[in-house]
Amino acid sequence: MNKVPDLHTHSSASDGTLAPAAVVHRAAAAGVPLLALTDHDTIDGLAQAAEAARTLDLGFVPGVEISVTWSGRTIHIVGLGVDPAHPALTLGLAGLQTFRAWRAEEMGRRLAKEGIAGAYEGARALSGGQLIGRTHFARFLVERRVAATERDVFKHFLVARKPGHVAGEWASLEQAVGWIRASGGQAVIAHPARYKLTRTKLLILIGTFRELGGVGIEVVCGSHARDEALNFARLAREQRLLASAGSDFHGPQLVLTSQPWIDLGRLPALPDGCVPIWHDWPAAAGLNRAPAPDPTPTAAVA
Ligand code: AMP
Ligand code: MN
Ligand code: MN
Ligand code: MN
Repeated sequence: MNKVPDLHTHSSASDGTLAPAAVVHRAAAAGVPLLALTDHDTIDGLAQAAEAARTLDLGFVPGVEISVTWSGRTIHIVGLGVDPAHPALTLGLAGLQTFRAWRAEEMGRRLAKEGIAGAYEGARALSGGQLIGRTHFARFLVERRVAATERDVFKHFLVARKPGHVAGEWASLEQAVGWIRASGGQAVIAHPARYKLTRTKLLILIGTFRELGGVGIEVVCGSHARDEALNFARLAREQRLLASAGSDFHGPQLVLTSQPWIDLGRLPALPDGCVPIWHDWPAAAGLNRAPAPDPTPTAAVA
C-alpha cells in the first residue's frame, strides 16, 4: 500500500510517551514516508527529531500544535514547516508554556481539595520536567487507581464543570496563525470533527482562519471515521483548503485503549479530489502522484 505522510504526532516534549527520536524511529519502521512532529505548544523536541530523521534519511517537517481559544472553546491549530528558532513563534509559545505551568499547579490545588493529594507532583514527574498537560494528570490518576482509564479521568475530573478543570485563555486564532506564518509555516485546523461545531459555526471558523492566512485542514486523522474524512474532504474542496493527514500519535501504549488517535503508519489515503498540503513540498517529491500502474514486461524493460 502507498503510505501517507503523517503530519501530526506527539513526543515526550509534550504529552506523548516516546522521546522525539523514538517517534522518528517508530515512524521509519512503520514505513511513514514523511513525518511531522507537532507537540502541544512547544518546539523543544524538534532538534532531536530532525537529527534522528537525518540519520535515517526520513523526510521530516518541523511542526507544532498550538492551543487556541476561539469563540469560547479550545481548538488546536497545527503549524507545519515552522522555523523553530523564529522569535515570533518561540515568544508566543513561551506565553502558553507559562500558562500551562500555572494551570498545572492550579489543577493540583483543585484536585487536592477533592481529596486527591500529590497530583501536581505526580503529573510533573510523569512529564519528565517538560511541558505538563492534562494527559499527565490523567496518567497519574490512573496509576493511583482513581479511575480505570485516562478517558474516565478526563470525563470525571478534567473537563469543564469537573473538579480538576481550570479554564483559561490560550492563544487567539489570530496569534496562532500569525506565529506560524511569521516563522515560515503553514497553518492547519487540527482534527475538526472533534469540536462538534454546527455547520454554520464551522464555516465561520474556516472563514476567519482563511482571512488570517490559514491554508489547511486535517481531512484524514486519527480521530476521524471514514465518513468524517469524506465530509471534510468535500469541505476542503469547497473552501479551497489544502488537505492534511495526521495520526495524532501519542505513544504505543495508548493505541489499544480506545484513544482518539492511532498508531504510526496506519493512516488511510486522502480521499480523491483533495489537494494534499504537501503537494508542492520538495520533501514530498514523489509522494504526490497517484501510484503507478503495475509495470508490464515491456515497460519494465524500457
Ligand atoms: P491539554 O492541552 O493539556 O489541555 O490536554 C489536551 C490533551 O489531552 C489532548 O491533546 C489529548 O492528548 C488529551 N485528551 C483530551 N481529551 C481526552 C480524552 N477524552 N481521553 C484521553 N485523552 C484526552
Ligand atoms: Mn495530546
Ligand atoms: Mn489536538
Ligand atoms: Mn495532537
